[in-house]
Amino acid sequence: MKIAYFSMEIGLNENIPTYSGGLGILAGDHIKSAADLNIPLIAVTLLYKRGYFIQTINPFGQQEEVYPYFDARAFMEPLPFKVTIKIEGRSVDIGVWKYNQIGTGGRVPIYFLDTDLASNAPEDRLITQYLYGGDQHTRICQEAVLGIGGYLVLKRLERGITTYHMNEGHAVFLTLALLKDNDGNEAKVREQCVFTTHTPVPAGHDKFTYEMASRILGDYLPRNIQDLAGQELLNTTILALNLSRAANGVSELHGEVSRQMFPGYNIGHITNGVHHLSWTGPEFEALFDSHIPEWRLKPQMLSEAVNIPDDAIKKAKQHAKRRLIQYVNSVSGAGFTDEFLTICFARRAAAYKRATLIFTDLEYLFNLSFDRVQFIFAGKAHPQDQPGKELIRDIVNTGRQYENRLRLVYIPNYNIWSAALMTQGTDVWLNTPRRPREASGTSGMKVCFNGGVNMSVLDGWWREVCKNRVNGWAIGDDEDQSDANAAADLYQDLDDMVTTYYANPRQWLSIVKHSIADITPVFNTHRMVLEYFHKYYR
Ligand SMILES: *Cc1c(COP(=O)(O)O)cnc(C)c1O
Repeated sequence: MKIAYFSMEIGLNENIPTYSGGLGILAGDHIKSAADLNIPLIAVTLLYKRGYFIQTINPFGQQEEVYPYFDARAFMEPLPFKVTIKIEGRSVDIGVWKYNQIGTGGRVPIYFLDTDLASNAPEDRLITQYLYGGDQHTRICQEAVLGIGGYLVLKRLERGITTYHMNEGHAVFLTLALLKDNDGNEAKVREQCVFTTHTPVPAGHDKFTYEMASRILGDYLPRNIQDLAGQELLNTTILALNLSRAANGVSELHGEVSRQMFPGYNIGHITNGVHHLSWTGPEFEALFDSHIPEWRLKPQMLSEAVNIPDDAIKKAKQHAKRRLIQYVNSVSGAGFTDEFLTICFARRAAAYKRATLIFTDLEYLFNLSFDRVQFIFAGKAHPQDQPGKELIRDIVNTGRQYENRLRLVYIPNYNIWSAALMTQGTDVWLNTPRRPREASGTSGMKVCFNGGVNMSVLDGWWREVCKNRVNGWAIGDDEDQSDANAAADLYQDLDDMVTTYYANPRQWLSIVKHSIADITPVFNTHRMVLEYFHKYYR
């Protein structure tokens, strides 16, 4: 068995800027667990020389973007060959960089594809320059490089691939290369492919006009492409569904929603996880090492965390929280303290995530939280997402305008490093998406490995495990909710949470322990990758 895992973004660590958010981090964690578990997997992605942007926030609360040059030579090895594909009739050379992800039980090679070669036309050198930076044209070219180029690279380097795993529809053009190699035999291609869809938001599914697709992809498009990818537009998700032997969403609810969106297809689900060894901070690492030493190889053992003494948990949390608060103060001068209940809201600034829901009734919020709660916000908006940028401005300006009544900071440049710091240090991780648009989410899981608790709408992964006031807080119930209802529930929870934290610390620690013991044994990528292995890879 050998699995080839294709992803448009892979996030491994803060030095390699080839990810933007959840999808990339999940891919990185998938690879890390496969390396630990010695599952025969190889991965393919693109090498973005200017990656995803670094975010700064100017004095007006506006997001500004810089794209520093990434020098891959410090981290990976260029391989001495290239492959060539046709894009828009031109020959485009693709170079390959190899990175080895070493795990506790094995390793996973990752091939990064790069069109920034002297032999290419200037416009083609730019194809792999930016992640999600370009227009539709750049996007389809990137997907051609990933799918078709990646397939050719593996043909040259790896024998005996049994399964191609498309992580999102971005990778789907690999099926076109496979079709060519299998004399157009769709059944043969289907036998070799599995597909994971990651978003219930329609705009998240890439679609291209056939005019553009045939101009860019030329002969790679089979004559019956409209039967395979949709009549009006080339829908990458439909193409992937038609040419895969199995498909899945990334949580139970997302599986259900995906079946409604794409009726007639057999779509299951595997709920996402996080790589426990990457996301547990040094404090809880040491704590687990001494109380549950098997946790490194078997994260399911963390169900025994209920037996760890309260004081040890409290002390570990205090340390991690202090690291976060020191950082926050050093970048903002906010004067936060590790005495106060700390709540983080960090995610991509997109409207459906409702970052400003907590501001619905400011007067109520001030009274409830002042001198008791401090809020840390973070997250990037996509450079072309004006409403997203508006949200950031709103949060920053609310913090400024009411600085005497609300302790709030916006920490710029949310990335792997600051996500780790925040998920390790925070008491509470707040999440208020409009159901059911959060396919799974993973950041809240990271918090549970670090003695924090979730307060979240019952969407994605959270509705599978939340026991209200036992292992975290549920905002609302398992129904769709208006913004007004969600806000009212949020305030009720917040009230209860503040009271518990200050007046009943033993109860708080019990919730923390259940947050660890109920959640971490299941919501990790070791469990997730083994599920892929048993359900979809064999
Ligand atoms: C974990 C992580 C995510 C995923 O977060 P969700 O909002 O839960 O989907 C996104 N960005 C970064 C930097 C992360 O570390």
